[in-house]
Formats: sequence, C-alpha cells, structure tokens
Amino acid sequence: MKKFTGIPASPGIAIEKALLYLEDDVPEIPRYSIQKSQVESEWKRFLTANHQAVEEVRDLYEQALREVSSEQAAIFQSHRMMLEDTDFHEQIKDQLNESLQNIEWVFWDISHKLAQCLMASPDAQFRERAADISDVSRRVMNRLLSINKRSLADLKSDVILVSHDLLPSDVLAMDKKRVKAIVMDAGGRTSHTAILARAFAIPAVLGLSSITRAIDEGDTVVVNGTVGEVIVNPDTQNLGQSQQAMDHYHKYFDEFLELRELPAETKDGHRVCLKANIEIPEEADQVARYGAEGIGLYRSEFLFLTPGQAIAEEEQYRAYSHVLKVMEGRPVTIRTLDSGGDKLIPNFQLTDEKNPLLGWRAIRFSLSRPELFKTQLRALLRSSVNGNMRIMFPLISGIEELEQALSILEEAKAECRKKNQAYSDAIEVGSMIEVPAAAMTADILAERSDFFSIGTNDLIQYSLAVDRGNERVNYLAQPSHPAVIRFLQKIIQSAHEKGIKAGLCGELAGDTTATALLLGLGLDEFSMTAQSIPQVKRIIRGVEMEQCRLLAERALQCSSYHHVTVLVEAWMSEHFPSDYELRSR
Ligand code: PEP
Ligand code: MG
Repeated sequence: MKKFTGIPASPGIAIEKALLYLEDDVPEIPRYSIQKSQVESEWKRFLTANHQAVEEVRDLYEQALREVSSEQAAIFQSHRMMLEDTDFHEQIKDQLNESLQNIEWVFWDISHKLAQCLMASPDAQFRERAADISDVSRRVMNRLLSINKRSLADLKSDVILVSHDLLPSDVLAMDKKRVKAIVMDAGGRTSHTAILARAFAIPAVLGLSSITRAIDEGDTVVVNGTVGEVIVNPDTQNLGQSQQAMDHYHKYFDEFLELRELPAETKDGHRVCLKANIEIPEEADQVARYGAEGIGLYRSEFLFLTPGQAIAEEEQYRAYSHVLKVMEGRPVTIRTLDSGGDKLIPNFQLTDEKNPLLGWRAIRFSLSRPELFKTQLRALLRSSVNGNMRIMFPLISGIEELEQALSILEEAKAECRKKNQAYSDAIEVGSMIEVPAAAMTADILAERSDFFSIGTNDLIQYSLAVDRGNERVNYLAQPSHPAVIRFLQKIIQSAHEKGIKAGLCGELAGDTTATALLLGLGLDEFSMTAQSIPQVKRIIRGVEMEQCRLLAERALQCSSYHHVTVLVEAWMSEHFPSDYELRSR
C-alpha cells in the first residue's frame, strides 16, 4: 500500500482499478530540410491538418454545449481562436520560408517555445495555461503525423484515470460514466482540466509529480478529491474505511444539494452570506448550482494570464459583463489585478526581485502603472450597468494606498463621464485585508471602505512569515494560530464598529472545521470554491450562534495553534460526529 498527497482539485471519493493513459507523451518529431519549391505543399499540409483540428474542436464545442454549459464550451471556442489566429499562421509561414525545414518541425518549434515560455513562469496559473497550447498543438501535430489517440470515449469498465497531464479535450471526450476519478502528475486547482472535472463532478487529485510511475494498470486506487489523497493498493483496513467514507460522501452530497434553496442561517436565526470564488468568467455559470448568493472573489488577473487573450479594455469589459449578467443581479465582487509575487505576468513584470512576495505586486503594481490600472477600472465601471458590481483592491497595506486607488477610480469615472459612458452609481468599493499592517489599522481602513474581504491565504503567509508555496515550512501555515485568530477578531470587530460588513475569501472560508469559529468571530460573508458551499451551509444550519460565540471566546484564550486545533476538532466531533469522521479519513 502507498499513500500520496496532491492538490484536491475536484471533491469526492472513488475506488476503482487504474487505467494508465500515457499516450499524450510528445511523439518524436521528424526534422528534415526541404526545397524552396516544397514550401507551398508543406504549407498546404499545415492548412489541412489545422482545418481538421478546427473541425474536431468545433465538435467538442458542440458536445460541451450539450453536456456541460455554454461557458465550459468556451474553452473550445478559445482553442479554435488559437487555431485560427492569423498572427500565429503568419509566424509559421515566415519560419517555414526562412528555415526551409519540414512543417512538423516548424510547427512544433513555434508552439513548443510558446508553451515552454509559459511553463517557465514561476506562477502556476501561467503554467496551467500552457496546457491549452499543448492541447491545440498536439491536435494539429497528430493530424500532421497521422496519429490516432487511444480512445477514452467507450470504456468497458469503471476506472480511475491516471495520466501525466490530461488535456481538457480528453476530459470532454472521455466516457464520463466510466471514469470515476482522475489523478495526474501535473495540473493545479485552476487548470481547465480541474475546472471541467469539477463541472462533471468527477473527483480529481492533481499535481502529484510522479504518480504515473507509482501506479500500474489494474492497481486498485482510492482517490479522495476532497482532501487530495491517493492510496494505491490499500490494505483491507484502509479499503474498508475508504468504502465507508465514499458511502458517507455520496449520502451527504445528495443531502447537501437539497440545501441549495435554504438560507445560510443558524438554528437561532443568524443569517450570513455564502458566495463563490471564481478564476475565469465561465465558472460563474456553475455557481448557482451550489447555492452561491453571489461571487465573493473574481480573481481578474486570470484574464491577463490566458495566452491569446488581450488585456484591452473591450476584452475586460466583455468578461466582467458576462459574469454580471450570468449572476442576474446577485452581487459580484471583482478584485482588481493581483499580479506579481507568485503570479507574474510575462513581459509585463520584473522577474528578478529578491523577495517577490514582499515586492512589486497587487495594488502596488497597479498604482505604479496608472494607465493600465485605469483601463481596468474603466472596463469595470462600464460593465457595472450589467449587474450588481463590487470592486475590491488586493493587498492594501495602509490608508495611503487605499486613498490613491480611490482617487484613480475617481479619475476613471471622470473619463467615462467625458465619453458619455454609463456606469452604476451603486458600486461598493472594498479593501482586501491580507497584510498584518492592514489588520492592525482596520479601523482606519474601514472609514474609507464599503466592505472588507479578508484574504487569509496571504494574511496567514504574512502574519506567520511562511511562504505559502514553500513545502518545507508549510506546516507552520496554521489558520488556527492565535495570531491569526486575533487578527480575524480585530478585523471583523473594526468593520462592525464602522458599520461595514466583513467577508473572508481565502481557502479558510470553505474549511468546514473553521465554520463555527468564524461564525463565532462574527464573520458576515464566506466566499469559497462553489462546491464547498453546501457543506459549509450545512454546518451553519446545524449550530446556534451563542455556541459559536463561546467557541470563539475559548479559542481566543488558547496559547498555541495546537490548543486551538484540539479545541475546534473536539467541538466539531461533538456537534457533527459523522462529518468529522468523513474529514478525518
Ligand atoms: C487570499 O490571499 O486569501 C486570497 C483570497 O487571494 P489569493 O489567494 O488570490 O492571493
Ligand atoms: Mg491574496
């Protein structure tokens, strides 16, 4: 028996035999010289292969429309745009003429360099976009080389799909009834593969590095996509426990979905708001399915990270308007560009900072590029007429930054007025509280903010001095550290004293072990991965506010994260014995 931990990319538990799908390895690319007179025929070969690839992508698009949603189908629309990109075609034609190499080589060289450039980014989100380039170029290459991939469309039995890097089109084409879970060496929570897996409710654990080497075809594999665990050939005891956990999960999930229409209200009538976090506009379509009352965090930087997607005002306007329209008047909180640190935009930002996490990132970057910032603000303002928009600024560390950002927003409004461009006059503007300095001056920031959204991913990183991406010190990133809990209390209290609401949009918002504690601290809004909403709602509907306040009081008196953890876990197992059992597996 072997156990592995990866990224929990799509929740759920499955136990099945493994199917290894490794045929997406790059084939050997032939390379040879051609005569000038052959250029035309090589070019025609490319056009034919490209046309066939466009047809395939069109079919996948239609399939996605039928089986998933128009928004998920947009992935294939963007693949088609890449295939039909005239600049890309020009580049291929120029290189073909200049290098006098065969078309397979020229095509591979250009697309491979583009994917490599994205892969080299320190930012996982860029690396994930490289998967789309690979998907598209492999499709054309397969046609050029007359390769037919092994089909995942009609599988004979239920399987756990094990792959190095499954492509979004593979997920769409595969037999979804037979594939019970996906495990991958590559990938992250925000890759399109992960997004599709979540849309199809297929559990997935990604980013396992070398899982393909640890699993043989036919091995029994347990995949727990909720916690990110994979067990290969479990012993009898582990198998039994996993089966029980799986049964629990299915039973609870059905119940959870029934909660969709019910309010997020404690037994004694205290109402809070549950919203979803999204990274790309297409995700907005799914969130109502889980009962999201709005979008609490739209990470707008994803627009800037997707290759082939311009960051022009019009592109942004369309993306923001789309989310607002889909949400039909429910609040949509759009965060301005949060690039830098671990999310660098290539050709746009410095890559040689000594301390990027303490460097030129988020609001600091936007304030130093006012024209870029204003372009985003104008796009936001113009789209605001399509729904109920809230804007928030990331990584605010003091009142000067907030005031500067607000004054640039005023300039953007003036520019819109000058051009007779309408915008809503009801837009709320909030601050993300993710830096200790902001937490300590929350009372001051609250004077100029319409709301707070606590970014615990960063707040924990900065208050405990733990790089959130560094595996060696990750054990120190404890949300239950007394420093974090005290910060949370201070932020929420300061917000309430000034009459504004405090939300939380870090991963902690979707962690059901923290729900009662956060309620007790007075949190008004929880924003999380949409799939987590039903579970969090169930906890909220199963507690009384008074009990939660007492829990928070006791937690605030604890002297170590260990004490807080023991306290909260004991409380949870007392109030929700079966949930706790499920989580602890
Ligand atoms: C956070 O820091 O908690 C947050 C929500 O922002 P991000 O994870 O995008 O940095
Ligand atoms: Mg953050």
